[in-house]
Amino acid sequence: MGPDRHDPSGSAPPATNLPRRERLRLVLECDGAACVWCRRPIETDLVRATTEHVVPRIKGGPSWLENEVAACARCNRERGHRTPADWIDECQRRGWQPDVDAVVRALRSLQAAIAERGGQRRARPYVATQLRRLDRR
Ligand SMILES: [Zn+2]
Repeated sequence: MGPDRHDPSGSAPPATNLPRRERLRLVLECDGAACVWCRRPIETDLVRATTEHVVPRIKGGPSWLENEVAACARCNRERGHRTPADWIDECQRRGWQPDVDAVVRALRSLQAAIAERGGQRRARPYVATQLRRLDRR
């Protein structure tokens, strides 16, 4: 792995500055119009849709589209800062069928984006650990 190419002057990756609604639309297109955790449909007005960071911001996750999945506001709130694998365990305890494939897909695409753009030295090992845990399922 080469030197850390993080550039604080910020050559912003594409999609970072899209408005919230547009980001949500793109994420829904990719994941389907359901919460990745509880699978409730979220295109209706009844369930408030949001995008959520697979690697939480507080754990060093970048605000890139690759780090976002579609979630309902309830799951977004209740997950807190738990790791995807821990929260998936909790979802399954609750009898839900979380979309593990979508989460793995997001983690892989984030891993590829990090490899391409560099930096993210906190998110890197986090992503690797989560992929190891989720791949064992
Ligand atoms: Zn949900």
